[in-house]
Amino acid sequence: MLPSVLNNYIGGEWVESKSATTREVRNPATDQVLTQVPMSTVEEANQAVEAAHAAFQEWRATPPITRAGYMFRLKAAIEENFEELAALTTQENGKTLDEARGEVRRAIENVDVACGVPSLMMGYNAEDVSQGIDSVAVRQPMGVFVHLAPFNFPAMVPYWFIPYALATGNTFVLKPSSQTPLTQYRLAEIMADLGLPDGVFNLVNGTSDLADALMAHPHVKGVTFVGSTPVGKHVYEYSAAHGKRAIVQGGAKNSIVVMPDANMKRTVSTIMTSAFGCAGQRCLAGSVVLAVGGCEKELVPQLLEAAKRIKVGYGLDESAQMGPVVSKKAQKKVVSYIDKGVAEGAKLLLDGRGIQVPEYPNGCFVGPTIFADATPDMTIVREEIFGPVFAVISVPTLEDCYPIIDASPFGNAACIFTASGKAAREFSHRVECGNIGVNIGIAAAIAFFPFGGMRDSFFGTLHGQGQDAINFFTDTKVVISRWF
Ligand code: NAD
Repeated sequence: MLPSVLNNYIGGEWVESKSATTREVRNPATDQVLTQVPMSTVEEANQAVEAAHAAFQEWRATPPITRAGYMFRLKAAIEENFEELAALTTQENGKTLDEARGEVRRAIENVDVACGVPSLMMGYNAEDVSQGIDSVAVRQPMGVFVHLAPFNFPAMVPYWFIPYALATGNTFVLKPSSQTPLTQYRLAEIMADLGLPDGVFNLVNGTSDLADALMAHPHVKGVTFVGSTPVGKHVYEYSAAHGKRAIVQGGAKNSIVVMPDANMKRTVSTIMTSAFGCAGQRCLAGSVVLAVGGCEKELVPQLLEAAKRIKVGYGLDESAQMGPVVSKKAQKKVVSYIDKGVAEGAKLLLDGRGIQVPEYPNGCFVGPTIFADATPDMTIVREEIFGPVFAVISVPTLEDCYPIIDASPFGNAACIFTASGKAAREFSHRVECGNIGVNIGIAAAIAFFPFGGMRDSFFGTLHGQGQDAINFFTDTKVVISRWF
């Protein structure tokens, strides 16, 4: 049973927000109101940070192996609640149950990696740096960290950070997306049952005022943000202005290059998942297909056929292959991009506007949409649409793809489909994107690799996940000793 209004979790207590303002959280497939999320006050942000700060000294003194023990128990508890968490994600976000299961799985994998913290946060030492003098470099936790989460992966994205921050001995304040706060609410309940010391993990619901208050608080040491580039730029500047370290992962516009020697059958099915999985609301979604050397003649009819077969519906229905986008606002935005593509002269091969899902007439559905004969200057090629839409551009050679990819301000991901090792190697080397797929359509790094983009898709130095996250959540101290 879902609560009618979500509480905050501060200092080990579930507390009602004092804010008079709430927002509805709706199921984007059924349009049913799931709950209300409070727009918590600046005072509540401060209380959460104070609680995390008060818990820090005891938590940092807890041996890493004991902290890892909590992570082992967290993993087991998420496994136990796996199906419930996946279903909640589907209800609030719209993605299919299989896609939701995939992201809960990746959240667990991040907990798995954080379980290795006793060795992952080891330092290093050198004897006799000068005669009789030794040096030891240790990694130490820093204090309170904050995460500002996006709507599109409500289970997974916060877990690129939370397990590493806690395992390394920091305390944490999470601000979930106000569009999809339920999965993290349930995960916070699971966390509360682990018996972590009060204040080690806190959750406050709200939006930009709350986020700014968290970033500005003097006890906060660092901020992690995943979301759109304009908000990300603000977060990077604002957190730097307040002296915080930051990981800021922004928006994306990802190209898929198809060479004439690619295995077309596999390429087609992979492009379907890349472009239409999660209704195109992935930061790794392919949304521009660069068909090289005339291969569009073979490729495009197959893409069209495959896209027409995709069953759009409610994600909780196991036969649905694509769910709705997250909200009416998102639906309107995606439709307006399709309108713009038509107005700017791209050839609309498959039109997802106005799609009807008879059982769910009020759902925020947009069907798979394909444009051909697109050109690099078109809005649908340049801007992040974040919906189930891709555009095909015909390109003479691989060399001609690079200026198109380089012209994008984003650098999150790019993929190439080819049988040529030479082409794949050259592409991987040259393209300025943080995640490269070779015959892979969603180049999503597994939890023990870092995840982050380049250019306007990323601001900061260290990335989320793996050793990068361990390094981000710790500071290195060097102790130099001489004994007489
Ligand atoms: P968003 O930028 O609207 O919101 C992200 C978070 O920032 C939310 O918690 C939101 O409440 C908060 N926020 C909004 N306005 C703010 C402000 N002015 N100041 C401070 N905080 C503010 O993003 P979204 O729509 O929730 O998520 C979709 C975007 O996230 C897409 O652009 C997608 O590409 C991107 N994304 C990127 C990655 C990546 O790894 N690069 C991963 C997932 C999603």
